Amino acid sequence: MAELFYTSTRDSSVKVLASQAILKGLSDDGGLFVPTSLPKLSVSLSELKGMNYQQVAYTVMKEFLTDFTEDELMNCINRAYDSKFDTQEIAPLVKAGGAYYLELFHGSTIAFKDMALSILPHLMITSARKNDVKNDIVILTATSGDTGKAALAGFADVEGTRIVVFYPKNGVSPIQEKQMVTQKGDNTYVVGVHGNFDDCQTGVKKIFGDKEFAAELDAKGFQFSSANSINIGRLVPQIAYYVYAYAKLLAEGEIEEGEKINVTVPTGNFGNILAAYYAKNMGLPIDRLICASNENKVLFDFFDTGVYDRNRDFILTTSPSMDILISSNLERLIYHIAGNDAEKNKELMAALNSEGKYEITEEMAAKLDDFYGSYSTEDETADKISALYKDTGYIIDTHTAVAANAYDSFVAETGDTKKTVIASTASPFKFTRAVMTAIDPAYNEKGDFELVDELSRIGNVAVPNAIEEIRTAPVRHDHISEVADLEKTVREFLGL
Ligand SMILES: *Cc1c(COP(=O)(O)O)cnc(C)c1O
Repeated sequence: MAELFYTSTRDSSVKVLASQAILKGLSDDGGLFVPTSLPKLSVSLSELKGMNYQQVAYTVMKEFLTDFTEDELMNCINRAYDSKFDTQEIAPLVKAGGAYYLELFHGSTIAFKDMALSILPHLMITSARKNDVKNDIVILTATSGDTGKAALAGFADVEGTRIVVFYPKNGVSPIQEKQMVTQKGDNTYVVGVHGNFDDCQTGVKKIFGDKEFAAELDAKGFQFSSANSINIGRLVPQIAYYVYAYAKLLAEGEIEEGEKINVTVPTGNFGNILAAYYAKNMGLPIDRLICASNENKVLFDFFDTGVYDRNRDFILTTSPSMDILISSNLERLIYHIAGNDAEKNKELMAALNSEGKYEITEEMAAKLDDFYGSYSTEDETADKISALYKDTGYIIDTHTAVAANAYDSFVAETGDTKKTVIASTASPFKFTRAVMTAIDPAYNEKGDFELVDELSRIGNVAVPNAIEEIRTAPVRHDHISEVADLEKTVREFLGL
């Protein structure tokens, strides 16, 4: 098979293989790795219909990771999508209220980040071996709440790796924080930052861009990589579940072969929805991609006006994993709609960096018809959770509710009634307080774990293991850092 190469969104002279892109995370020029061409699905839709999750994942991922052998890739897949998930289906599809909820939260940390972060450590270790890397790999991760725990769970005690997670001290849910600060593993380090997610992400990117620091680390036997969704090793596994969802709809007779579906994604860093866009470009019959934002609606405004403008207040919402004003993965879409033009993209990203905004050309905007942007206010999000529960008994989390709302707006505005898959990105147990008070404000009187038990009772779903574990787990991490001190914190952890 012909090798697929990756280039940088900011420098067209970059040309690396998948394993090298996974190891580096971010290109030296600050750009993101993108495939030089998007591969097509190599099997027919009817062949997909009979496949289980692991088989679909292999079918999709082998097209992107062409320098992995079949054994290597199958080994990564089988070690990732195993009994860490509480269902053999891995990603069940649940029909409720006229849409299909693709439940991506059955992994060990009960958010969709597990779909990619349970495999990324294996992809990274395999990549290190293939490239004769002798250094320990230090994963630096900024998290809006869910990536942190999923990355910690994935990398804990993985030999040859260390992981540092930075989260906004006052910007995550109590359960998200508890999940992170109780993390076991001698190679893990969790740090609360006095700042918001964008501060954490910008700080991490700055450390990645520091060539002197990298040289110093190399001399000490370390090198950085990223577990954020800028890493192509996270994006590629995410394409698989859209293909799987389509195969399931086919297998269950909900759609005809070739019938187009719409996909709705609650969006923050633009990774999950970009994976759906890649799935569409691989030939999966997807029509519109509905991009749902919360009150931090920078993406809605972008699709509406062609102007990306982060100069606005950062709002803390009940869907904290989407409280983001700099959607890193949008850079990949910008690069593609510019006609894979690294120079044009670089110019826009420089404007984002210096002025906090940029405007795309009309020619570029014309290539955005695949997308429909929408957003939900806090009240609308709560109302949706409550209404869906009262109508169907099905309980969704706050992020998924943002998406469900966006889908309602889309149907009301366009009259488009194609079958629609809504990416359900977190278990309601992860955002128990917001979910339960949406159903009944009186629940706000109760404690976090009382609410967990009540949610289990009224929703008729068992309390996930991930929650049982933290009821009594001791706190193991209490590091706090100012935004300006992230590098110092990394030095402390590595003993430099
Ligand atoms: C990370 C996350 C999102 C946003 O996904 P992106 O890929 O960053 O757009 C949405 N919902 C939940 C629960 C998440 O953890």
